[in-house]
Amino acid sequence: MSNIISTIDFNSTTTCNQSNPTHQTHPHNPMDTTTAGKPSNGHRLVFLPLPYQGHVSPMLQLANILHSKGFSITILHTLFNSPNPTNYPHFTFLPIPGTGDELHSLIDLKNILRLLNYINADLVDPIRVCLNRLMLEEDGVACLITDVHWFGTQSVADDLILPRIVHRTSNISSFRSFVAPVLLRDKGSVRGCDEEVKSEASVSRLEPLKDKDLPKFLPNDPEGKYKILELTVKGIKQARALIWNTFKELEEHELEALSQDFPNPHFLIGPFHKFFPASSSSLLTQDQESLSWLDKHPPNSVLYVSFGSLVRVEESQFLEIAWGLANSKQPFLWVVRPGSVEGSEWLECLPDGFLERIVEGRGYIVKWAPQQDVLAHPATGGFWTHSGWNSTLESICEGVPMICSPSFGDQLLNARYVSDVWKIGVKLENGFERGEIQSAIKKVMADEEGLEFRNKIVNIKGKVNFCLKKGGSSYSSLEDLVNYILSF
Ligand code: UDP
Repeated sequence: MSNIISTIDFNSTTTCNQSNPTHQTHPHNPMDTTTAGKPSNGHRLVFLPLPYQGHVSPMLQLANILHSKGFSITILHTLFNSPNPTNYPHFTFLPIPGTGDELHSLIDLKNILRLLNYINADLVDPIRVCLNRLMLEEDGVACLITDVHWFGTQSVADDLILPRIVHRTSNISSFRSFVAPVLLRDKGSVRGCDEEVKSEASVSRLEPLKDKDLPKFLPNDPEGKYKILELTVKGIKQARALIWNTFKELEEHELEALSQDFPNPHFLIGPFHKFFPASSSSLLTQDQESLSWLDKHPPNSVLYVSFGSLVRVEESQFLEIAWGLANSKQPFLWVVRPGSVEGSEWLECLPDGFLERIVEGRGYIVKWAPQQDVLAHPATGGFWTHSGWNSTLESICEGVPMICSPSFGDQLLNARYVSDVWKIGVKLENGFERGEIQSAIKKVMADEEGLEFRNKIVNIKGKVNFCLKKGGSSYSSLEDLVNYILSF
């Protein structure tokens, strides 16, 4: 049976002294060999992440990377879903006042539009106050680095004459489709995000994407979504530069196409998480027993299954997943996040006896796993994923082929690239259906085709290793970014 995650650290507040948070000093973390002892270059960067796991993690990793280059770091964050400061004793954490309960009530994805409106309107003044205070301190602020979704902070940065750089947590390919409704409408195309097209036809200027791959969240409020997108695009165009958690070798052509619409400087310095040993940016407690369970299995024999921090499935879909896994006869490590099955707390809706007969023999179910370590484990042979960009990139970095079950947003695009462009996995084209699941698992874990996926992804993994070394593309882009910020 599986272990239970007991701590969900969603409501924790930082240990910062709120009355004088920026004077909080932290001793260096002795475990942090990469950043310890680096001389300060005397410049402070302020980071502002969006309060979702998939956005907080890369932002903290980016902050760590720039800290290793001599910058001091302040993380401006919401009280809800706040990062754990004890994992980053070399950073200063500054909570934005009043960002607990209201945000908590909006954090569900169905409220995403309201959340984005709220943070970009109601939170702009509290952020202005925080930044103003930081700028008056001795070391000032060299640059504000925000998630692209905090577009309201551009006007604050302009007022304070503070350079703003944006970080987009997806890859470039999916970003192009994310902004497509605005760019296509600007260019006079009739297509807008009000059209929920589900056809197999290619999207002109965005090949290989199909109509059905275009982001489709919020079909009930297309104009609201369009307005937010328009403001996001405007905020990005006004920013000094964009930072990407991807690497040139993977997306060179997409970068070229993107630069025509966004002529800002682009810094591709990913994969962020490979700069440091597995990081501690998880907002949930990771079940370390997963790794001992994997130790008992032969190389490439286990299918790791996780749909990230946000996806929720219907009970009927959950049962198809369970039976697909059961019928595949493949060992599996399955992350079932509490609350991720509609109407259930955790595993209650599994059929009687399922856990005893199926899971105990060859499966292990946890509430949250140390994913990067799981993917790096020799026993892990495949990853059934929701195709979030962090998960996709983490899988690429460990050479693990994928089965893709995207739900919304950039996941649809990532899945299309995995299956049709990079050819490092398969996409389940018909949602969750036990027969299709079973054959996809066989294809990836046992068939000749799976071997081809593995060879291709291992080849890309080699490019990752190269791009991070001295002279490699991400290494050089990071040097350029540092010099660019120092030139402000
Ligand atoms: N993750 C984790 N344990 C899990 C599942 C996910 O640590 O059991 C991490 C994963 O390593 C990744 C992040 O959560 O860094 C998920 O980000 P992604 O962009 O893939 O998806 P999102 O959660 O934003 O939908």
